[in-house]
Amino acid sequence: MSRSTSAAQAARLLRQRAELGEHEIVLEGLTRNQALALAAAARKSAAAGPVAPAPATAKRGAPAPRVPAMAGAPVGLPVLPASYGELREAALVCTRCRLSGTRTHVVFSDGVPDARLVVVGEAPGANEDATGLPFVGAAGKLLDLLLQTVGLAREESVYICNVLKCRPPGNRNPLPDEIETCSPFLEKQIELIAPEALLAVGSFSGQLLTGRQGVALGQLRGQVHSYKGVPLICTYHPAALLRNPRWTRAFWDDLQTLRSIMDGA
Ligand code: SF4
Repeated sequence: MSRSTSAAQAARLLRQRAELGEHEIVLEGLTRNQALALAAAARKSAAAGPVAPAPATAKRGAPAPRVPAMAGAPVGLPVLPASYGELREAALVCTRCRLSGTRTHVVFSDGVPDARLVVVGEAPGANEDATGLPFVGAAGKLLDLLLQTVGLAREESVYICNVLKCRPPGNRNPLPDEIETCSPFLEKQIELIAPEALLAVGSFSGQLLTGRQGVALGQLRGQVHSYKGVPLICTYHPAALLRNPRWTRAFWDDLQTLRSIMDGA
């Protein structure tokens, strides 16, 4: 990374921090320069051998939602188009589940189709439903900021989508039949993007992509999974970081693991 790139990145970090108003969240225990230095060090140590598991620091008390396994999902959809453009068009007019009746926009994806990393969240929220884009608003900005610290920019090397393409009313949790009906879109997206790595943020995407229904996120974190041969890291949803700022460091540790895997690929 050049000095000018570092400066631009630092300026962006500061702007995003100010917009978020969550100074202590982003750089918990670290100054901006320390965070950037650590990110740079992680990139330099990339090619270095096997990845050390990140510490599992999540609370384990909360019951984990049960999510259908993707591989065995009763599709409920016709054969999906083979091309990306046709797949997107099919999703944008999809009425396969009840959520089509309450959505404003289908939220298919954001980022670049030749991405190195695919980030998979849960479902659109109010801002996403209104704009048609995933991960906008404070949680999206925080995600962008944290990805930037490991050199991954949404507009350059990241593709972002959700398990569900339509917003559950009132931001309720996705229901199992909704996940089963919609997940073939996600499966095809990942197949067509063919990323180097996957990052599942939150319990629903973590359980779906690992096929480990009912397993708490704290147990999915701290190890490198495989989804059809693609390395997969599970971590917190950025919205959870806004509610629980002390989890931000653990999220960042997970990003370090992710970055090391990608640099070693
Ligand atoms: S959530 Fe998925 S399956 Fe349901 S209507 Fe939207 S795109 Fe179709």
